[in-house]
This record gives sequence, structure tokens and C-alpha cells, in this order.
Amino acid sequence: MEPDTTPAFDRSPSGAGTVSALARDIPPFIAMDFLERAQTLERAGRSILHLAAGEPDFETPRPIIDAAKRALDLGQTHYTHSMGLPELREEIALHYRRKYGVTVSPEQIIVSSGTSPILILVFMAICDPGDEIIISDPHYACYPNAIRSARGIPVKVRVTEENGFRFDLEDLRAALTPRTKAILVNSPSNPTGIVLRPDDLAAVAAVGPLVISDEIYHGLVYGEREHTILEFTDRAVVINGFSKAYAMTGWRLGYVILPKDLVRPVQKLQQNLFICASSFGQRAAITALREGEPFTRQMAAAYDERRRFILSRLREIGLGVKVEPTGAFYVLANASHIHPNSYALASDILERVGVATTPGIDFGDGAEGYLRFSYATALPRIREAMDRLEAYVRDPAMRPGN
Ligand code: PMP
Repeated sequence: MEPDTTPAFDRSPSGAGTVSALARDIPPFIAMDFLERAQTLERAGRSILHLAAGEPDFETPRPIIDAAKRALDLGQTHYTHSMGLPELREEIALHYRRKYGVTVSPEQIIVSSGTSPILILVFMAICDPGDEIIISDPHYACYPNAIRSARGIPVKVRVTEENGFRFDLEDLRAALTPRTKAILVNSPSNPTGIVLRPDDLAAVAAVGPLVISDEIYHGLVYGEREHTILEFTDRAVVINGFSKAYAMTGWRLGYVILPKDLVRPVQKLQQNLFICASSFGQRAAITALREGEPFTRQMAAAYDERRRFILSRLREIGLGVKVEPTGAFYVLANASHIHPNSYALASDILERVGVATTPGIDFGDGAEGYLRFSYATALPRIREAMDRLEAYVRDPAMRPGN
């Protein structure tokens, strides 16, 4: 066959222009749009309180930074094994063994440039076009868009406050079709902050399909401890990363623990799409796992104090929080009595009183009418944010469109 030398931009089937339907139709990650708008306002001299972004305000613990510096000084600046440094993968396996008592082989682990790329790799590895992945609604904003980018179809199952934002098993079973490839769970959860109990995880595992468990908020819990899906089934994919528990968002490091049949497919995708994660970052990640726990505990204690404070203030202000979050660093609060359109409300609050939150609609129709507050911000700033929010709520003249 002759090679096709037609420039790609001339081959669009619709002839409609340069932008693909996927790129045209993908919604923005609204939390990032709000963060970026807040930063623009700040640069223009406005005082802004940041409760929108899902990232720790803490700096990466010093020993982790020192490990990266050491790696750079030692010239550890080359590509690594596509699956990640063997030492790091051993440390991850050890972490899961020590913390949860589960046995995983380093050969089942692949490290990549954040949990976000891992989501894409996993969805690409399991979805043929039209295959379905079941997610909750509300859900982490990027899940449906990552699934669609991998040619899959997100199937949303509503979870409600009445049921503690956990799957109703009847609803979950009713969503199964011959195209169902996996059920995605996320505990502790973004945006609800709930932590699933062992029987919840066991019940989801028993439904049948592969379970993908996003465990990125493990380590940040304020009540009952968290469990890995691997305590309940081997037919599971665990997704985790360093961004949250070790305050390493900018380092871009995540990993996946895979059933054996998925390892090589994900490795091939990783080689082609990302090659490997940053070499000195991976060195630092080894230190994070070896020495990071006391720091995670300290940060978790600070988050817990803020959590209690923000919950009590939100309730005083009249924003409904029926299900108390006990993990991650988010509160999803019902603001529908103030305004039903969460996007309009969050925009108005940001523009008028300089408090950045994330509109619930970012997390699916199930969170419309809600606002998500991230308490990964210092307590005095949260206090100030709540005072400003209270002033906004108490003044009926301050509403979208007024
Ligand atoms: N999963 C969830 C539930 C998240 O909240 C986030 C970050 N907001 C990610 C995955 C992605 O994290 P990262 O790419 O920084 O590892």
C-alpha cells in the first residue's frame, strides 16, 4: 500500500476544520477554570481566598525534595524503565503489604506521570469503542472525559445523600450491560469526601465486573480507616499517586497496580505515550514512601481541624451538609436554596466576594445545586472565606444576575 502523505489536517472526514469532535465537545475541568480565573483576579489586585483547587497548600516534605536534589546531583536524569524504577515499584508493593496486608508483585505495578495519565492508560487498555465504564454521579470531574478520550462510554449511576453517596447495589446491577468493562470507585471520594466501608467495597467487588479503585486520597482520613479494593478481590485495578498524601501535585507522579493480563498492554501504551515518569521524581517518590508517613499524618491532622471548622461554619451559614466528609479535603455543600445553578452561583461568589469554590455541576448532574469547598487552605484563610460567604448569603441583593 502507498503511504498516505496527505497532511493530517486535510483528512478531516467532515472537512469541518482542524478541531476534532472529541476536543470540541470535551467540557473544561471547571475547577481548573475557576482556579485560573481566581488567579487572574488576584493578579489584578483582588484579594482572593482559594477553596476551589484540589491541591494541598503544604509544601512537599523536605526529605522528599532533598532526595530529588540528590538524584539531580548524581546525574540521575535519564529515561527509566517504562514501568518505573524497580526500587520504587518494590517500595509501592511493600507499602500495600504493610498498610493493608495485601500481596502484590512489583511486576504488577506501573509508574506514570500522575494519576491522570494512568486513568487514560487504563481506560485505553480495557475499552474498545463503545465499551462502558460505570461511575457514580457525583464523580470526580475528569472521569467521564478520560473515559470518552479512550473511546469508552461513561455510564453514570446516581448516588444520593440519603444513601451516604454510596452506590445502591440495585442501581449498580441495573446499569450492567454486555458492554460493561469495569466499575470505578473512589474512596476517599472527590467531591463528597466519603470513605467507603469494607462491606461497601466487598459488595461492589461481588457485582462482577473488574473494579477500578482510585485510591489517590488514601492517607487522608479522619474517621474510620480506609481500605484498598485488593483486600476484597484480585480482579481489580488500583490507581494511586503522590499528589495528595505527600503534597506532590506539581511533581506529576502516579502509579497503577494491575491484574497480570493488563500489565503488558498498559506498559506498551505507557512506552508509546509517555515513555516513563520523571527520573528524579521517581527517586523522590521512593523517599516519600519510606519517610513520608509522619508528614502525611501531620497534614491529615491539620486538614481534620479545618474540616471540623468549615463544616460548622457552612452549617451556620445555612449550606446543607447531610453527609459528613471523613476523607480527602472536600466538603460538598447544598446551596440550591441560594441559587439552583451552581456555575452561576460560584461565579458570582468569586466575582463579588473573592471566594473561589467549585460549582457542583463539574462533578455531574448529581451535584448540581451544590458547591464544593476544598479545605486545603490555611485555617485563617478558611475563616475569612466563611465570613465573606456569610455576608454574601445574608444579602439577597447579592445573587447571580442582580
Ligand atoms: N483522581 C482524583 C479523584 C483526583 O481528585 C485527582 C486530582 N484532582 C486525580 C485523580 C489526579 O491526580 P494526579 O494526576 O495529580 O495524580
